[in-house]
Amino acid sequence: MKIRRTAPAALLAATAASALLLSGCAGTDDAKADTGAGAKLRVIAAFYPMKFIAQQVGGPHVKVTNLTKAGAEPHDLELTPRQVGAVSQADLVVYLKGLQPAVDKAISQNRPKHTVEAGKFAPLEEHGTEVHGAEEDGHEGHDHADAEHGDPHVWLDPTRLAAIAGGVGESLAAADPVNAADYRARAADLTARLNTLDGEFTAGLTTCARRDFVTAHAAFGYLAERYHLNQISVNGVNPESEPSPARRADIQKLARERGVTTIFFETLAEPKTARTLAQDLNVQTAVLDPLEGIKDEAENDYFSVMRANLDALRKGLGCS
Ligand SMILES: [Zn+2]
Repeated sequence: MKIRRTAPAALLAATAASALLLSGCAGTDDAKADTGAGAKLRVIAAFYPMKFIAQQVGGPHVKVTNLTKAGAEPHDLELTPRQVGAVSQADLVVYLKGLQPAVDKAISQNRPKHTVEAGKFAPLEEHGTEVHGAEEDGHEGHDHADAEHGDPHVWLDPTRLAAIAGGVGESLAAADPVNAADYRARAADLTARLNTLDGEFTAGLTTCARRDFVTAHAAFGYLAERYHLNQISVNGVNPESEPSPARRADIQKLARERGVTTIFFETLAEPKTARTLAQDLNVQTAVLDPLEGIKDEAENDYFSVMRANLDALRKGLGCS
């Protein structure tokens, strides 16, 4: 564990400058880590948004490994024996109970030193859908974990992700007390940026021609709740499940009634059903990214994807 503190005054600097300063610190710290074993805390994140907040809050003091490959879909992830070994060795694991049963099992069996279970800081809720038959579809697939624990997609509400980031800050402070003040300052900085994003969504989605949006998989329940929108999903909570013909007909009817002009699909899952629906309704398609994984992490992060989502929603819903 590292003893020297890394420029805490600089880390507390204004939000606007922090991204630059933080990346600078990370660079110098990489060099230091090479000279001594165990210099950084070993943090394991179960999937992208958990990785993002662990990196942002941990900064130069942590090395974060994502169990879900970049660009892969996290639902029902399977772990290699090596990954299970890494979980048992980790200083901290950040995960969300119910999303990935293999991760839940690895944690309960291997008991890493510290864990952040995201649902403890952002309790999961059930999100119903207006179109019935969703539950039947869900039970055919691998939705059992989701059905037991509630809708897992809490990270799509920035204020809930901020609550999880606060939990990560406290756990890192407990795991590495020498740097505790730094973790708390970073968590506060991230929370401020997430609150700014939340304000942009609230303002951007206040005055819209429509409030119903059709998505491929039901990932946007928390986002819809936060910004007073109504999600109509083609598939269930699990992106792999296929809608029944009856459900498809119900969605078509509802989309016509509500004057839907755009069918949203995501980047990681197969958009065939959403495309077919858009063709049948003669409306356009657009991407709404559930942020379950990012293919080009050098180019994009949670904030840039969320802002692209906001733009897509504003266009699709006719917001002024
Ligand atoms: Zn999902």
